[in-house]
Parts: sequence; structure tokens; C-alpha cells
Amino acid sequence: MFDLLPKANRRRKPRRRLFALIPLAAVFVFSDCGLGSSAGTADSRSGVFLGLPVNCRLGDECFVQQMPDMDPGPGVVDPLCGRASYEGHDGWDIRLRSLKDIGRAAVVSIADGTVLRVRDGVADRIFDRLKDSKLLGGKECGNGVLIEHANGIVSQYCHLKQGSIAVHSGTRIGKGERLGLIGASGLAEFPHVHLSIRRDGIPFEPLTGRSLRSGAEAFGETTGGLFEPSVQSLLSNSPTAILDFGLAKTAPELPNLVRDGGPPLVKLSEPIVAWVWAINVEQGSFFRIRLLDSDGVPIVNLQTRALEGRKANYLAYVGGKNGARAGVYDLRVELFDGTRTVQSTAKSFEIGQ
Ligand SMILES: [Zn+2]
Repeated sequence: MFDLLPKANRRRKPRRRLFALIPLAAVFVFSDCGLGSSAGTADSRSGVFLGLPVNCRLGDECFVQQMPDMDPGPGVVDPLCGRASYEGHDGWDIRLRSLKDIGRAAVVSIADGTVLRVRDGVADRIFDRLKDSKLLGGKECGNGVLIEHANGIVSQYCHLKQGSIAVHSGTRIGKGERLGLIGASGLAEFPHVHLSIRRDGIPFEPLTGRSLRSGAEAFGETTGGLFEPSVQSLLSNSPTAILDFGLAKTAPELPNLVRDGGPPLVKLSEPIVAWVWAINVEQGSFFRIRLLDSDGVPIVNLQTRALEGRKANYLAYVGGKNGARAGVYDLRVELFDGTRTVQSTAKSFEIGQ
């Protein structure tokens, strides 16, 4: 229910008049843990098939930033046997890129149920560990909703947008019905919803179908999950994702990306900096950033150094030497994990006269 987290975020900036954005290639994401095909198998006791707690497109509009910590000891292991978690984290965090994206995605109920409790009235803002820790006063969840479902399952949704809660205590709610909007209230270092689940009063991880107290045998085993098969499959994908990339006049900074989204497109004659922002990037991974001008001539062709450690948020950038000339630029970004392409994406940017 608490939420400490990584650092940065971004959103689609209002497109400036000087540039058009033309998607050139789809984004490819591969499972990181060999679990991508794990089909959901209904819990034998309940037959429950839970849905996603959001109505946004995962991997495109919203992203898994962190999962529950399955290790009951001091270590950290997520349900896919990776490290997209932190000590004691008990839920799934599905994020938006930046504060500017708040309002674009709803939080919805994962199953039919009855609302037990709600809280609203907590402001949305990026939590500052140094300044804000004393101000929360037990409201780490921010604006939240607690729902009781069948078979002893209770779901909690945290960090909703202030003023967006659409239900009240006692409301009968259907699976997929809107509870509010993803926000950044309470202990949130980026806009997201934190979904935590209890079964028979015990913290429970729905992808694996395991109690969070059950220990290491849970790692990587998702066949007992409670989500519907399509959601099991979605959430079994690697959480590694390129959140955004672009061309700016200076290198962006992660806190600014989380607050404001991507910086404006570089203008004519300004120096060009190609940047890319990714989350859950594994140790040993590196980027290749290529920028071609209108004639297909490479302006930038960079391979970053392999990461020495895993990064929950990672920002890479490289500057071209000359000022931007008018034309259409092609920016291609690939993320490798050392042996294969994890993700590959490209966009065209038009810099006008
Ligand atoms: Zn969380």
C-alpha cells in the first residue's frame, strides 16, 4: 500500500507547430523471463478471472513500473523472477509517463464487488522523500478505493487523481467499472495506480496466485494466477519499456520528464540532442541511437555503454555537432540486452523553416 519508487516519467507533449510525428515502426517487446506464454489457469477454489485495474493500453499508454516483492526475506524478487520491485512492495504499479498524462486513463475494478471504503481529497503531486515524508499522516495510499469481491478477495487501488473517485462506500461495482482516474496522490513518485490484493486477509499476488508470504518457490510460476488469460499473458511480459524518445535542444532530466513529459522538439538552427527514456532496463543492456537527416545521412550513430546495474528509470542522450536544418529527421532507437534486441522503435520528426 505504500509506494516508493523510481524517478522519471514523460508524456506526449502538445505537438509544436514545427514538427509532425510520424510513427515508422511498431514497438517490439519480448518477455524477459521465459514466461510470456504462461496461460492463466483459474484458481481451483474460486474460478475467478480478474481483469486489469486500468483501461489504458499496457505498453503504449501505461506501463508496469513495479510488481510485488515475492521474497519474504530481505531480498527483492518480482513475480517474473526479475527485480522490478523493492523491499516489501505489495502491489502492481501501473504508471503513466508524466503528470501531464493524468486524466487520460481510468482505474477500474478488477472484478464484481462491493466498495468497502474510499478516500478522496489528497492532492496530486510528485512525492519528495526529503520534504514530504512527515506530511502524509497515514495517507500513503492517497486517494484510494477498497473493494470486497467473492472468494475472500479484497482489492485496493491507490494514488487516484484528486476529485476523480466515482464510487462511495456500499456501491455495488461490476468488473471493469470505473473507480476514478490514475493520479499521483499520496506516496507516489510518479503517476500510477498501485493495486494490492488480499485473500482471506493475507497479502496475495494475483499473477502467480501466491501469498506474498509464501516465499521463493513462487518465482516465475504463474500457472495458478487469478487474472483472465489475456491479462495473465500481458502481465507476464517483461516490464522493460522505452517510454519516450525525441529530439531536443538540450538533454532532458528525469524529474522534468516525470513532471512535464518530453521536451519540445528542437527548432531550426538549434543544436540537436537525441534522447531516449526507458524503464526497467536490465544490467548489461545498451542502446543504439541513430539519427538520419532528410538525405538518409547519419548525424548520430551511437551505441551506449552496457549498464553496470539495473535501472528502474534510464535516460540516454547524444548530441549532434551542427545546428538543425529544415527537413525530416529519422530517429531510430534499439535496446539490446547483450544478446538480442529487447525493443526497437523509430519516429520521424519534421523541423520546419
Ligand atoms: Zn506500489
